Amino acid sequence: MIHSDAWLGLHNPYLVDVGNGHQLHPDVAKAFTAMQSHAAIDGQDIQIVSSYRGFQRQLSIWNRKWTGELPLLDENEQRLDVAALTDEQKVYAILTWSALPGGSRHHWGTDLDVFDKSAVDACGGKLDLVDAEYRDGGPCFALACWMGNHLAEHGFMRPFMRNNGGVATELWHLSYAPTAAEFEALRNPEQLRRCIEHADMQGKSTVLTLFDELYPRYVLNEGLKA
Ligand SMILES: [Zn+2]
Repeated sequence: MIHSDAWLGLHNPYLVDVGNGHQLHPDVAKAFTAMQSHAAIDGQDIQIVSSYRGFQRQLSIWNRKWTGELPLLDENEQRLDVAALTDEQKVYAILTWSALPGGSRHHWGTDLDVFDKSAVDACGGKLDLVDAEYRDGGPCFALACWMGNHLAEHGFMRPFMRNNGGVATELWHLSYAPTAAEFEALRNPEQLRRCIEHADMQGKSTVLTLFDELYPRYVLNEGLKA
């Protein structure tokens, strides 16, 4: 049984090291290693960009995007001028690409961002983690196609395949469905609200004012309902 607040990323005792500073839930690490071997046979060098991130790490990303220390992008990946945005606009802009601290699937050890390392290295080694890199003509296009055919047989799915007005499309973001389902079942808006109330977070009052809308739209990624 997973502890009821483990989904918030404050404390996750279910992690193992998988190399290069990355950590995953043990069941996810095992499934990912098996999938990597399968992919290698098919010529795909699937490697991790980002794996487990705790609450403090997500909070740091949030705060640096708020102040403009990290680039803030619109849904078409165009850079926004932070100084020209209202606090509300900043909240929506950040949430298109980054989760609320406490609301990231990366807190669970079940989700990871991946790329084709050999293909990227062959193009100079630079990866920006943008949509075009995973589309026709991009270095990770073949991997994206391979994943479309083979993720499910290894238990993985992609939760951000379509932008419904919530989180942007992220073809690189994988989730190990059996274990992620256990964390999804724990999600609870009041727990997250309290967690944010206690955090040293930029834009906190705006987030709390909008919280009832933000939670389903971005945390559950239900987007904008028609
Ligand atoms: Zn991700």
